[in-house]
Amino acid sequence: MADTQPTHPGSCHCGAVKFELRAEIEGLMECNCSMCSRAGWKLTFAPADSFTLLQGEDALTDYMFGKEKTHHLFCKTCGVRPFSWGPGHDGEKMYAVNTRCLADFDFSALPVQHYDGAAL
Ligand SMILES: [Zn+2]
Repeated sequence: MADTQPTHPGSCHCGAVKFELRAEIEGLMECNCSMCSRAGWKLTFAPADSFTLLQGEDALTDYMFGKEKTHHLFCKTCGVRPFSWGPGHDGEKMYAVNTRCLADFDFSALPVQHYDGAAL
């Protein structure tokens, strides 16, 4: 199935962190947890095998809070948060990708759902 899905390149602002997301993005999430509401990102969830970090592992700082399940990564240089990862509802590793960090991706027409991350 991964073969038919489009590949979206993404990066932080300074370019130290580069990644690819293979997904058909049909909708976005806005999470109301204390971290995401401050960061203001629009995200999409993706299983681990559809996300590839191409470069920048050393450029990322790992920030955790609360129950410390989710890794909220950000670039040490420019401060942008391109993605985070943690266990999904089934316990499998999931990525939450900041669609604002995807290159040439128009998210303005996509429906936005609200994700109750604050309740987790
Ligand atoms: Zn950066």
